[in-house]
Amino acid sequence: MKDLPLIIGSHVSMSGKDMMEGSVREALSYGANTFMLYTGAPQNTRRKPVSELHIAQAQRLMEENRISSFVVHAPYLINLANTVKPETYEASVRFLIEEARRTRLMGSSLLILHPGSHVGAGAKEGIKSIVRGLNEVLSQSSDVCIALETMSGKGSEIGRSFEELAAIYEGVSLNHRLRVCFDTCHTHDAGYDIAGNPDGVLAQFDRVLGLDQIAVFHINDSKNERGAAKDRHADIGEGKIGFEPLNYLVRLPEFSHIPHILETPWYPDPDHPGKTLPPYRREIAWFRAGRQSGL
Ligand code: FE
Ligand code: FE
Ligand code: ZN
Repeated sequence: MKDLPLIIGSHVSMSGKDMMEGSVREALSYGANTFMLYTGAPQNTRRKPVSELHIAQAQRLMEENRISSFVVHAPYLINLANTVKPETYEASVRFLIEEARRTRLMGSSLLILHPGSHVGAGAKEGIKSIVRGLNEVLSQSSDVCIALETMSGKGSEIGRSFEELAAIYEGVSLNHRLRVCFDTCHTHDAGYDIAGNPDGVLAQFDRVLGLDQIAVFHINDSKNERGAAKDRHADIGEGKIGFEPLNYLVRLPEFSHIPHILETPWYPDPDHPGKTLPPYRREIAWFRAGRQSGL
């Protein structure tokens, strides 16, 4: 039996005058066949009009190179769980509706979202607020699924357990348009034994949410011990998870149809002090080969 090719890529940037066309080119330079981008700087909500994103050119380049899917990540400062500052919640809802529209226009059907942080009000209040926000966003957008990311539990983050994500699913009326983005660093940091028992973790996920809800993986190693609730990504094979468990997850046939996205940190360039280089080309090659070749 012939193995299906892995769908693997990384986070890429979208800037300069080529915008999305440049993103595709960056992905191709890593040997990727998928990618993830932010529609602008992840730390703010300033966005260029879609007419300036070079979408048609990007799509042509994707077609020529058989890239059939990519995903969009919503910016970090979106917080649907904020009940302490209503302005933040309101702005988040408005921005997400726009973001869903941009995702669609760019040609993706999946928008990844950090569920939010309750900023002191407690997980129960936070989840209630996320549900309310998602109900509004989903009813005012169409054709896009929102993938809730599994979080590390840093600060007051919601989504540190599969049960918290399930509670969000339970409250959202249009929950057939919810999915999960499974981040390996975050689940490890939240306490799940990704390194020692990836099958057990997936079985647990299956019982709570169903494996068919995973629409994208974030494949990252972690700088911290399991359960540290820290969220610091490490390059593949250089953290506390290690290459083998991640390689095992990446190659599971039941997920061969969904994108696997690396968000590993850039490393110092030995030839140019102060500069950094992306690890994606070699990490993608390792996963395609099934081993850390060339080491
Ligand atoms: Fe994320
Ligand atoms: Fe992530
Ligand atoms: Zn992270």
